[in-house]
Amino acid sequence: MRSIEAVANANLVIPPERGSPNGDGPAPAPAAAGAVDRRRAEAAAAELLAALAVDVDRDGLRETPRRIVDVYAELLSPQPFHPTTFANDGGYDELVVARSIPFHSLCEHHLLPFAGVAHVGYLPGERIVGLSKLARVVDHFSRSLQVQERLTTEIARWIEAELEPRGVGVVLEAEHACMSLRGVAKPGATTVTSALFGVLRDDQRTRGEFLSLTRRQDR
Ligand SMILES: [Zn+2]
Repeated sequence: MRSIEAVANANLVIPPERGSPNGDGPAPAPAAAGAVDRRRAEAAAAELLAALAVDVDRDGLRETPRRIVDVYAELLSPQPFHPTTFANDGGYDELVVARSIPFHSLCEHHLLPFAGVAHVGYLPGERIVGLSKLARVVDHFSRSLQVQERLTTEIARWIEAELEPRGVGVVLEAEHACMSLRGVAKPGATTVTSALFGVLRDDQRTRGEFLSLTRRQDR
């Protein structure tokens, strides 16, 4: 079985239309795969603040470049994990849905967070996976510079590739700091994205069942 790390990297080279990679040789390592160059990052953070007319020599700010680098290094480092899948011995053939998984990621346009909940479901085929792993998948793909649409698709593709289920559905609902704090400045507005594959896309009843399970519950 491929590790999730390998799948994450593969996603960067597979064209959006799912298909077989076409023998172009080994994929180039994605930029995010390298180790963090802390010295360079701290110098750059200090330089950015100075260029923004911030007095970086002020007492309270002395450690700020280091803290900035700590934060971004953490938020941009996906945790590799090796998901264990199990044979679907019981022949379970109803939807499995992990609902309201909290997540946060960084918008690649502004490096500001977007955060909310993910609903992740699949209709099992031959394999099933531990429920906590669905949350780990969300975390894994969240830890990089993202747009919500791509994050949604990456989660769904991973489940599709790893479990070969009869269908996959992923719905993400998030508030973007770049929308709520600046620009149109609309706090509370959420963006909803979805990726539906297989039966969850094609069969109206299953699709409806999944989507009704993901509707916002009373808080
Ligand atoms: Zn943004």
